Amino acid sequence: MSNKTHCSHCGSDAEPLVIRRGSVRTQIILWFMLVLPGFFYSMWRESTKRTVCSVCGSEDVAAVCPLEERHRFVHHH
Ligand SMILES: [Zn+2]
Repeated sequence: MSNKTHCSHCGSDAEPLVIRRGSVRTQIILWFMLVLPGFFYSMWRESTKRTVCSVCGSEDVAAVCPLEERHRFVHHH
C-alpha cells in the first residue's frame, strides 16, 4: 500500500512496475560463457531498472505519500 506511485501521465495511483532492460536468457547465456560478462550484465540490468506506471506504462510516476493521501481524503469531507 505504501509504495504506490502517482502517475502524472494518466493520473492513476497504482502499484508501480519495475522494468529491467535486457533479458534473463541473455543473462544466463553470459553467465554460462564466462562469469565476468554475466556479472557485468546483471549489474547493468540492475542499474537500468526503472519504475513505471502499471496502468499506462509511463515512467512519469512519483511516490505517493500515505499521509498526503489521508490528508486528501480528510479534505474531501
Ligand atoms: Zn499511468
